[in-house]
Amino acid sequence: MSRELLPELEQAVNIRRNFAIISHPDAGKTTLTEKLLLYGGAIHEAGAVKSRRDQRKATSDWMAMEQQRGISITSTVLQFEYDGYQINLLDTPGHQDFSEDTYRTLAAADNAVMLIDAAKGLEPQTRKLFEVCKMRSLPIFTFINKLDRPGREPLELLDEIEQELGLKTYAMNYPIGMGDRFQGVYDRAGQQIHLFERRSHGSKTALDTTIKLGDPRLEDLLDQDLYYQLKEELEILDEIAHDFDLAQVHAGKMTPIYFGSAMTNFGVELFLKSFLQHALKPESRHSSLGDIPPTYPDFTGFVFKLQANMDPKHRDRVAFIRVCTGKFEKDMTVSHARTGKTVRLSRPQKLFAQGRESLEEAYPGDVIGLNNPGVFAIGDTIYNGQALEYEGIPCFSPEMFAYLKNPNPSKFKQFHKGITQLREEGAVQIMYSTDDFRRDPILAAVGQLQFEVVQFRMLNEYGVETQLEPLSYSVARWVEGGWEALEKVGRLFNTITVKDSWNRPVLLFRNEWNLHQVLADHPKLILNSIAPVGS
Ligand code: GDP
Repeated sequence: MSRELLPELEQAVNIRRNFAIISHPDAGKTTLTEKLLLYGGAIHEAGAVKSRRDQRKATSDWMAMEQQRGISITSTVLQFEYDGYQINLLDTPGHQDFSEDTYRTLAAADNAVMLIDAAKGLEPQTRKLFEVCKMRSLPIFTFINKLDRPGREPLELLDEIEQELGLKTYAMNYPIGMGDRFQGVYDRAGQQIHLFERRSHGSKTALDTTIKLGDPRLEDLLDQDLYYQLKEELEILDEIAHDFDLAQVHAGKMTPIYFGSAMTNFGVELFLKSFLQHALKPESRHSSLGDIPPTYPDFTGFVFKLQANMDPKHRDRVAFIRVCTGKFEKDMTVSHARTGKTVRLSRPQKLFAQGRESLEEAYPGDVIGLNNPGVFAIGDTIYNGQALEYEGIPCFSPEMFAYLKNPNPSKFKQFHKGITQLREEGAVQIMYSTDDFRRDPILAAVGQLQFEVVQFRMLNEYGVETQLEPLSYSVARWVEGGWEALEKVGRLFNTITVKDSWNRPVLLFRNEWNLHQVLADHPKLILNSIAPVGS
């Protein structure tokens, strides 16, 4: 493609912002997503995201299981516009459907929004997802939610983030009261108070009444004690807090903090505006050719997620591709880095909730869904022009393990084929015992649902009825330096060694405590919770 495209690409990149929300179940991710879409005009009433979900349940549903449990297995990409920006929200699956896809989605995100329940503070799933963001140095914007309910002290929440995540915090706004006495937030940059209107129930965009700090009317509008408390705490903040430093935000070292209440729609627009102003636009990515800027004229991208059978009528597979550079056009022909094959990208899809619209073009920062003719695997690069490859997507520490058994020897071939394909697709990690007599593969997953998906698909797609034999381990660590390093440390207790699909040693522990014990006994042993892509 030619240079003439440059202004178009620059323009597209400048207005694009892409992010994922990281949170623990129930913190309010669905609610916040709905409210963001509401401002983006992508939906007109809150509740629409959920009702789209229900609609989908009635019509498609790739698995009866999904229907039974009323959960959504698929992660979706929501694109909406606000204030001249094109925003891509990459939805990270949570709840029981927590899986490696949740982590992988972060490989396609440029920014993360960390959503925290004010009453609960940091929770386990948020911490795990944070670790992945940290590995990628993603900018993190924190939204502290549910201020309309009694919660923990704001300063205490900031302190927790600083101490436990090692992130500097900068409160962009600060709450006035909480729970029944929640009266609004003070916007530090704009130096004004946004008053909370309890009347608005949040199904429509909220009314926003602002008033300057120091305005005499505040004496009547706010409870006196809260007003004085606010002034006092702002002084404390000014004294103890770091200065706002955008470069540190972009480097993932400082997180801007916003307080609000997604359900009542309070603080959401304030957050969205500030987020868009400070978030990273699509940036250069590391590749085999060095760092490639998004305005590089040829189209390139990588696969971060594969989804099977979203539409049971077609039994198709969709590959989700993050556009990194250039312009994507429908029916374009590209090269597939891993195999060297040429692939025509037909039937591209734009993904809104679960609806599928066909898509004509896409730019860096966008995500497209492509019908996967079976050539794509997680982490694959596709490109036009000069050959290049992006860094793959690493393996994330599984927490559940089970032998997968095939009780019917005549199905050996299908069993083997199914396991291999499901592994390549990234549906589950596969490990093996180091004991030659135990040939059954060990399924290693981040969430229980991954096991169910594997068993379901083995039966429905490969015709093999399988049995699970759970293992009572919950922690996996890759050994830095491989077998050689492992041999040097000698005998280890309270752990077993298995090998991953690339024949790398992995230690399994029953619990964190055993892991810490082994680490304490063997200071030279270096263990990793995230492993590079295998080769
Ligand atoms: P998710 O699991 O993170 O997607 O959480 P949901 O968005 O489904 O919210 C979990 C529960 O918290 C629901 O009952 C929401 O109505 C409630 N919730 C979400 N945001 C708020 C909020 O700002 N205030 C209050 N009081 N409840 C909220």
